[in-house]
Amino acid sequence: MTRPSPARGLHHITAIAGDPVENLRFYQHVLGLRLVKKSVNQDDPSPYHLFYADGAGAPGTDITFFPWAHARPGTPGVGVVGETLLTVPHGSLPFWQIRFEAFDVRTEPLRERFGERTLPFVDPHGMRLALVEADDPFAFTPWPASPVPAEHQVRALHGARAPLRELEPTRVFLTDVMGFRQHGEEDGWQRFVLPGAQGAGAGHLLDLRAAPQERRGAWGVGSVHHLAWTVDDVAHQSALREAVAAAGRRPSEIIDRFWFQSVYFMEPGGVLFELATKGPGFAVDEDPDALGQRLILPPWLEPHRSQIEAVLPDLKQAASSEVRA
Ligand code: ZN
Repeated sequence: MTRPSPARGLHHITAIAGDPVENLRFYQHVLGLRLVKKSVNQDDPSPYHLFYADGAGAPGTDITFFPWAHARPGTPGVGVVGETLLTVPHGSLPFWQIRFEAFDVRTEPLRERFGERTLPFVDPHGMRLALVEADDPFAFTPWPASPVPAEHQVRALHGARAPLRELEPTRVFLTDVMGFRQHGEEDGWQRFVLPGAQGAGAGHLLDLRAAPQERRGAWGVGSVHHLAWTVDDVAHQSALREAVAAAGRRPSEIIDRFWFQSVYFMEPGGVLFELATKGPGFAVDEDPDALGQRLILPPWLEPHRSQIEAVLPDLKQAASSEVRA
């Protein structure tokens, strides 16, 4: 079998949040991302599925949430992503420190990691993220209605960090199947990178740390559910899917998510991965200027729209309680 081209970088990261109004208030009104799709969980339509991204809703910028307000908090530990990294332009972190202070966002002191200035912070539901000053080659589209000035807006996903019980099986899988390269070690973290030259440019990092004594983490409010990596199209996806299967990882069939096609599998360390196609994108079922304003349902749920809308919380509260720094 010929080796498939590497995955292109992160496509999106999906996490579990608490109350959806608080989630929207933080990601849209504090972090300044654009809500580009308001939908429901396709397997259980009672909670929302909210997608935030840059002004164009481009793959590589997207962070999505299942707001499960009554779920238990997640448990950090091996096999669960512990931190999500987002890029901001060089020189922006002082702006963000002031903004986070004004909104009472919990932060840690500025630090350097692998030579990049990094500001770790925690979202209202306990999810750990960090802003990183980096210039990944990525065609960013600002969102003009963001409360954050364009020159400081979050650019894209940068990567993720996860502790694993053992690194070796994941190292072999990442380098042999997914096309990552090892890029050095710092403070116990091994950095893996995807070659950026062929496309994505965003989200090409994965930092892993061996934590043989730590317990297995568990999904819940504030934890990352899966990391989705970009593939060019269904042909690229099928080739990588075959390589994943040949490595014994039992990938799902290709599932149509309307905005992209998806394949899911667990990498050897227990982190859930997805391969998601670049297109067709979020404008396939909405006007690009009006993304995220209307509840979008899959066709089989459309006949039940009024019942579904009746039980979903009203997200307009988030806008009406907006506070500007
Ligand atoms: Zn996904």
